[in-house]
Amino acid sequence: MSQSENLFAQAQKYIPGGVNSPVRAFRGVGGTPIFFNHAEGAYLYDEDGKRYIDYIGSWGPMILGHSDPRIKAALHAQVDLGVGYGAPTAIETDMAKKVCELVPSIELVRMVNSGTEATMSAVRLARGYTGRDKIVKFEGCYHGHVDSLLVKAGSGALTLGVPTSPGIPASLAEHTLTLDYNDIDGVRETFAQMGEQIAAIIVEPVAGNMNCIPPVPGFLECLREVCDASGAVLIFDEVMTGFRVALGGAQSYYGVTPDLTTLGKVIGGGLPVGAFGGKREIMEYIAPLGPVYQAGTLSGNPLAMVAGLTSLNAISEPGFHDALAQKAAAVRDGLKAAADKAGIPMAVQGAGGMFGFFFTEESSITRFDQVMACDVERFKAFFQGMLTEGVYLAPSAFEASFASAALSEEDIAHTLKAAEKVFATL
Ligand code: PMP
Repeated sequence: MSQSENLFAQAQKYIPGGVNSPVRAFRGVGGTPIFFNHAEGAYLYDEDGKRYIDYIGSWGPMILGHSDPRIKAALHAQVDLGVGYGAPTAIETDMAKKVCELVPSIELVRMVNSGTEATMSAVRLARGYTGRDKIVKFEGCYHGHVDSLLVKAGSGALTLGVPTSPGIPASLAEHTLTLDYNDIDGVRETFAQMGEQIAAIIVEPVAGNMNCIPPVPGFLECLREVCDASGAVLIFDEVMTGFRVALGGAQSYYGVTPDLTTLGKVIGGGLPVGAFGGKREIMEYIAPLGPVYQAGTLSGNPLAMVAGLTSLNAISEPGFHDALAQKAAAVRDGLKAAADKAGIPMAVQGAGGMFGFFFTEESSITRFDQVMACDVERFKAFFQGMLTEGVYLAPSAFEASFASAALSEEDIAHTLKAAEKVFATL
């Protein structure tokens, strides 16, 4: 029995399914989840001492690679000063200033503790600001486990077959209108019918929770247009894409400006952090300035702030995102070339530091139904084969993959050699 099998058996006695977040349980790929005990640079090391090249990066935050010395030093220094005061600190302003500089559509920003909190708060704010109840989301987009947003959701909810979770009152879910991602006509029709009842559109500007689907030309622009015409608030959920697709996020990459932005993952440098921010006029509706309530005992926690700010400063170095995008493209295009050589139909796509690969005959994937038609069994076999070869991919066909700055040419070569070997067995 491996250490992971042993530890998983023990974990299941005390933790539902043995995990604190469902996708980690490997239900999407079968087998036992790997238990890790340390990580450095591009590598994870499991409890049996095996090394893996990591393409998840803690689901996004580890954009610099693991155990970055700058983040470690910042954390050590802060530990000596105290781990939290529940009162204002200078570092919170430094963080907010940095976020506003990097993402110019953000004029005021509030820190929270997770992406879920960020989207929950942004939706409440949009409803409070507009005085409207309905929100629009897109099938297969995941915005955290917020009641209003866990309707036709992606990520683990999709992997586990519960895209709309029990436990959400129908009287609440009825206010969530779910449209097809990249369906410009569907958006226009809905807004023509009921635009003045809609508080907000929330969208992943690159969908990363049903594998990786960039927006088709005109889709994000259409969202901006219908929001302007109807008075609805446009929320870009950049929890995944923020600081990853480009330094200024997907909004700078695609040149479409939302009213509110939600952030997470990279902004915490690996610690539990989220944020939401945007137009001053809207953000002034948040307490204590305005009537929409939102709060957090640990929000703006100094450990999280120093880790996040150090991460943001490091990725602000000139050329960082070009190099990251090149790494992501090298893996993505290399996988495609190896699949072609092995005669395995595959589509690959991505944006900046994130990418996806699909076992499909189609040349590109732009819609949710196309994702669902991909060969999940083949993905599972590929995933397990790559794991054996020491490459750690997301354990679900519905997740995007991430490059980190720590990924070396040798790591990429190792990954592609492993893929060639595994493709030959499929
Ligand atoms: N929004 C998006 C786009 C996400 O990818 C995620 C998490 N993967 C969330 C929100 C929720 O973030 P958290 O898991 O930190 O609550």
